[in-house]
Amino acid sequence: MNLRQSFNHSKASPARTAVRGAALLPQCDGSVQWLPDAWLAWQDGRLCEVRAATADDRLVTQTATLYLPGLIDLHCHWPQSHVRGQFGGALLPWLREAIWPAEAAFADPQVAEERAKTFLNEILRAGTVGGLFFGPPNVQASALLLALAPPSFFDGPALMMRHAPAELLTPVAQMLAEMEELPADITKRLAVTPRFAPNVDADGLRACAEAMAKHGWPAQSHVSENLDEIKWVAELFPLAKSYLDVYAEAGLLGPHTVLAHGVHLGPKDWELLAQTGTWLAHCPTSNQALGSGRMPLEQAKAHGVRWVLATDVGAGPLLSQLDCMGALLQVHQGHCSVNACEALAHASAIPGEFLAQFDPDLKGLGQLAIGAPAHIIGVPRPAGDDAESVLQELLQTPRNLLESLPTQVFYAGHALLT
Ligand SMILES: [Zn+2]
Repeated sequence: MNLRQSFNHSKASPARTAVRGAALLPQCDGSVQWLPDAWLAWQDGRLCEVRAATADDRLVTQTATLYLPGLIDLHCHWPQSHVRGQFGGALLPWLREAIWPAEAAFADPQVAEERAKTFLNEILRAGTVGGLFFGPPNVQASALLLALAPPSFFDGPALMMRHAPAELLTPVAQMLAEMEELPADITKRLAVTPRFAPNVDADGLRACAEAMAKHGWPAQSHVSENLDEIKWVAELFPLAKSYLDVYAEAGLLGPHTVLAHGVHLGPKDWELLAQTGTWLAHCPTSNQALGSGRMPLEQAKAHGVRWVLATDVGAGPLLSQLDCMGALLQVHQGHCSVNACEALAHASAIPGEFLAQFDPDLKGLGQLAIGAPAHIIGVPRPAGDDAESVLQELLQTPRNLLESLPTQVFYAGHALLT
């Protein structure tokens, strides 16, 4: 099955359209509503009917399909997509030896364009219809992705001003100035993206926080993923109370910020994340791949920290959020109670809430709700008679089939699969 490049949101759906099948409706409180025989209708790109089907709903009958909202990924490195899952090792050697050289190639606009197109095709094919993405350390490459991507994609060029190969380094003022000069339809979907504290000094981080406040941009970075990384940050910022404190001191924490990992945070850090409303992207497949450890999800839950599931491609091997949902249940078994319904909500409705802060048109993103964007995926219906059992069965799908599992993908009501 091929993906049709027809997600241009300016084109309204030709007519009111509907599908009928089983449906899972994730909610922002982490629960999921189950409709075994649902009727989903949309017009002009937005859902207008979401309800149990009746005997009169005969327009389309697809009882063998399970419908879900398109999934949302708040932490994924698109310039690593073509090497996803190919390299292992611990974080720092993996970055230096495999990832940074791979990202240097994006200085060539032809390479950047070709890989941006491939990435968009592959991630939409896998059922992810939006998110927050890390670009290469190159503003033009990020702009190129955003020009090609649908409006629910946000992206930031990874800022690196030190401790990396010279061809990847950019002064912070230069990068922010280049970001500000892009066309308005691009700048409104940019994100401030200091790669991680070792690559950006305190002044650079403060400049990022100022740009974030000035432009209303989201911010994204990494925190406390690996013990060697934490040790390095402590050497570089000797006055900081912790790795997270480096970002707090710069003014980068808050409800517009997503930090990936948090595998080795201290008790005060959990309180600080909760107090500031900072979001944590939990990337269980990446943590497994790089041997980073288990993120203590029980701490996030106990402190009321807002967390989402994310792929962290290319350390994460797959673009499919279904893979992260399965890994979530597996890695926390015996440590923290978490179910498949929570896994779905934290890969759809909850990250959708994060992005909706930046664009009112995204309200309802990641939900199957009246008025929400009609981003819907259909997969073969698994056995089961409630949301949890259906999802548990869905997550038994072999990993090598997950990226091509959706049989239907609708973006703003347009069918993308042919
Ligand atoms: Zn990452």
